[in-house]
Formats: sequence, structure tokens, C-alpha cells
Amino acid sequence: MDNTKDFRRSILVADAKAADRKILSEILSQQYDVIQTENGSEALAILRSRKGQISLLLLDLLLPEIDGYAVMESMIKDGELAKIPVIALTSEKSAEVKSLQLAAVDFLTNPFDTPEVILARVRHSIALNEQTKLIQSTERDLLTHLYTKEYFFEYAKQLQERNPNTTMDSLAINLTNFHLINEIYGRNFGNIILQTIAADITQLAEESEGIGCRYNADGFFLYMAHHWNYEKPLERIQFHLSELLKETEIHVRMGICQGTFRSISIEQSFDRALYACNSLRENFTSAFAVYDEKMHEEEVRKARILSDFADAVEKRQFSVLYQPKYNIHGEFPVLSSLEALVSWSHPEFGKMRPDTFIPQFEKNGLIQKMDKYVWKEAACQMRKWKELHGTTIPVSVNVSRVDLHDPKIVDYLLQITKENDIDPSQFLLEITESAYIDDNNILVETVKKLREAGFKVEMDDFGSGYSSLNMLATLPIDAIKIDIGFIRKIIYDKKTMYLVNVIIGIAKEFGIPCIAEGVETKEQLDLLKNAGCEIVQGYYFSKPISPEEISELRKKAIRQDI
Ligand code: C2E
Ligand code: CA
Ligand code: CA
Repeated sequence: MDNTKDFRRSILVADAKAADRKILSEILSQQYDVIQTENGSEALAILRSRKGQISLLLLDLLLPEIDGYAVMESMIKDGELAKIPVIALTSEKSAEVKSLQLAAVDFLTNPFDTPEVILARVRHSIALNEQTKLIQSTERDLLTHLYTKEYFFEYAKQLQERNPNTTMDSLAINLTNFHLINEIYGRNFGNIILQTIAADITQLAEESEGIGCRYNADGFFLYMAHHWNYEKPLERIQFHLSELLKETEIHVRMGICQGTFRSISIEQSFDRALYACNSLRENFTSAFAVYDEKMHEEEVRKARILSDFADAVEKRQFSVLYQPKYNIHGEFPVLSSLEALVSWSHPEFGKMRPDTFIPQFEKNGLIQKMDKYVWKEAACQMRKWKELHGTTIPVSVNVSRVDLHDPKIVDYLLQITKENDIDPSQFLLEITESAYIDDNNILVETVKKLREAGFKVEMDDFGSGYSSLNMLATLPIDAIKIDIGFIRKIIYDKKTMYLVNVIIGIAKEFGIPCIAEGVETKEQLDLLKNAGCEIVQGYYFSKPISPEEISELRKKAIRQDI
């Protein structure tokens, strides 16, 4: 590397003899900024006051006050200064070994070599040090000094190869609600929390002949000799955390993949540890989980669900069921519309509820295909009913978040409604409230376009997320569907009933109807009716049923005139 081409680096020359300082300074100043000192304590003071600025120290071992060895010892203790390369200046051969053992990377003996040789050795020492630092900066996470993921996996493999007879466990450790710490206390405090956990992980790694890693913001890996008692390490981390965070509800979770799975790669074993760790997301009773056969089956099943999708569409294993919504405004309930809900008859797993596969599809984009399939089925079904009964009942379909990012969504919906001779106002779109969170501009634009095209938009699961009220102000919608969670509680919880009253009041204020879903009992129905809720959906009236059953229902309704 040619040092003259980029910025001039600084070199500190600490030498007791003025003549030597002069010779060295003259040679080095051709290419470097040179600072000189004649004693050890001043050398340390300069290094400390110019942290990060000095690229090399030329150090006379026989300095007065504090000698060169003591300077090196102080530098090692400092940590930060230990990163500065040292070239020892000596006239005794015997001193070389000791200085090299301490921290010196090279030595120059007096009488000095030619200027070319000195410059070459200096250049070499600086370049070597800078390269090492560069490697270390990618090897270690800057904040916690734990290994970064790539290096960690590499070293874990080496560790495993070196100790083929030791059973190793893979541990994934992360925090619940870490983002809250940053939000409430600021990033600096968040960093302290991460460093505290990292210190525990480092210690655990040392105690168990393992290694640790920070794999993402608040996630850590630990590869360690097999251990039966996982509570102890967990308790230690939790204890140190609770010392810092007295009242905040932040907990440590740990997922473990035990070394019994030798047939899989290190990366896979950490995937499994993470899977176990994430399985604790909704579990507040336990702080650690061991990856087991059951989880493995679950994972395989999830993978199957994804890989079977295309086949399922082709073989028409998805069917659409319809759940009636009733208007309860008058004396008798009147069928007002239907909600289309998908169901999957899997050849192996049997009938599957949407909750078991929709979240999987949402993660990888298949949901768009599935939704389009359901919308089309629903539209075709509406036409069939119209032919059969002479009238149309509005049908609502579910629209996922990703659907709203599709610029062609309006065209597609217009196309299928047109093909089936349906007025868009009869085709209702239920958009789940959580869809409103991520990119509001796109969503607001798309919803506006859908409404301009004549579709009616209902806000599903209202009250389940954070943004309900905010969104109401910015987003034009045609109905609110109160989240099922509220309806479950209204019978025994007065506060929830109060909230439901507020939501119904807001809907009235906006001049739009309020729909309650998940109504199972007469009691719930009466409470909602008294509160002024207009439309109700739930098992009390009907579960989601097949198109044929809907036809029966409609015939009956006509016969009974309701
Ligand atoms: P959702 O849109 O909130 O649908 C209402 C869910 O509540 C349905 O569950 C329905 O069967 C259930 N439900 C209705 N009445 C009652 C009741 O009285 N008691 C109880 N306990 N449950 C009731 P389902 O069919 O399992 O659907 C679950 C979720 O899956 C839906 O929640 C929706 O978010 C999603 N989903 C269903 N079909 C589709 C679809 O075609 N596309 C998309 N993107 N999501 C869908
Ligand atoms: Ca819905
Ligand atoms: Ca809902």
C-alpha cells in the first residue's frame, strides 16, 4: 500500500535519545506526520488524547520514568490503545523477544538500517494492522463485540470439527418488546441493554467452551456444550436485565436445538432454535422452549402447506363458504349480505380453517393468488344465485394487505364483477385493520380508487390494532366491523361494552353502519341491538356454509317472508 497517496498518517516516536529521535523523524516525515516525545508517561498521555489518530508507535524500551514495557502493558489494559501497533526500538537482541511477547509487532535495532528499510518496515506494520482491524470489524459486531453471523457459523463449524465427541446445543435468545426500550428510553439505553445481554452471553460461552453471536438487533446465538439446565443461564440474563429495567415488561426468550440432531447443519440447528424461540411469542408462561418432534412436524406441515398450494388450486381443493350477516334494525333479522370465507380440503390434513394457512400465504405472496381465486369464485357464485333466485345478495370478500399494493387490483375486480354482471356496489371488500399500518399513502390511494370504481370498503377487525381511530379520519370507508375480541367480552366486561358503544357512536357520526362479528348468543345479540348496532354476523345465526345451504336459506327466507 502506498501511504503517500491517501491521507498522511501520524506516527508517535517515543525515544529517550534526542539524536535517535532526530534521525527517525527525518526519515519518517517524508511520508508521515511525526510526533515526538522523550518519556513514557508523556507517550501514554499523547496516545490517550489522540485516540484513533495515531497509526503507529515507535517505542524505545529504555525510556525514563515509565519504560517501554510498562507503556505496552498500560496500552494492553486500555483496550482501545492495544489496537495501535508498536515497533520496539532497542540495541539489545535479548529485549526483542520480550517486546514481541508483549505487544510489539516488529523491532528496529540501533544502529538503524537504511532509511528505505525503516520506511518499508513501518509501512508494512501499519498496513498489517489496518487489515487486521478491517477483518475484525466484519468479524465482530461493533456494539457488543460478539461474532457476526457469518463468522459465527464458520467458527461454530470449526469448533464442532475439533470436538467431534462433544454434544453441542444451539441456543437462540431474544427479547420481547425490545423496540419499546428504544422508544421509551432512547437508543443509548437500548444499547446498554444489548451490551448487558452480550456480556452474559460472552461469559456463558466462556464457561461452556462455546461461542456467541449477535444475529440481529436484539437477537443472539450461543453455541455451547450440551447443558440440561437452561433455566440458570436464562435467569442470569433476566436478573441483569431487571436490574436495569425495573418495571418495564421486557422478557428474555430462549429457543434450544439440542445436539442430538447431528445430522443437520449448524445453520439448520440455529433455524430450529429460532423456531423454538419464536414459538414462545404468544406464550407468557414459559421463557424457553426446546425444539422437539412436535415442532418438527409443525414445520414440515407449514412447508407442505406452501408447496401444496399450486396443486390445491388446480385440483380445486379450496372452496368458498359463506357466512350470513343479518340486519337487526327491525323487529325480525333480515339477511343483508354474506361474507366469503375460504376453506381447504387437504387430501392428507383434512378440512383446514383459514387461520392455519392464511398466515403462511401472507408471508410469501401466495395470498394474492388465493384471494383472486376466492374473489372470482364469489363473483361466479353471485351470478349463479342471481340466475337461481332472481335477486343478488351483496357478498363481502377479504382483501389482504399485499393485495392493496397491486396496481392492477381495481382493474381485476372490475373485470370479474363485469364478467358476472355484478354491480360493484354489491361486492364488498373487507380490509383488515392491520393492513392500514404499513404504508398509508398507497393504501389510502388504493381504497379511494376502489370506492371511485363503485366498490364498498369495510374496515375489518376494527379496534384490534393501534391505528383504528387515526385511519378513520384519513380513510374513506363504508362500514366498520368491530373486532371479534370485543364481542367475546361484552357480556362479562362492562368496559368492553362501553368501548363497543363508543365505536357504534363513531360509526353513526360518520354515517356508516357498524357490523358485529362473532355473535354466538342471544345475550350478545340483545346487548348489541340495544346499543344501536345494525348488522350482526356469527354462529348465533349461522356458521360459514356452502353455496347450496345458502340457497336453501334464501328459499326458506322467501317462504317465511323474512
Ligand atoms: P375474519 O375476516 O375476521 O373472519 C371471521 C372469522 O370469524 C371466520 O373465521 C369466521 O368463521 C369466524 N366466526 C364467525 N362467526 C363466529 C362466531 O360466532 N364465533 C367464532 N368463534 N368465530 C366466528 P375463519 O373462516 O376461520 O377465517 C379466519 C380468518 O381468515 C378471517 O378472519 C380472515 O382474516 C381470514 N380469511 C378467511 N378467508 C379469507 C380469504 O379468502 N382471504 C383472506 N385474505 N383472508 C381470509
Ligand atoms: Ca373478514
Ligand atoms: Ca374480522
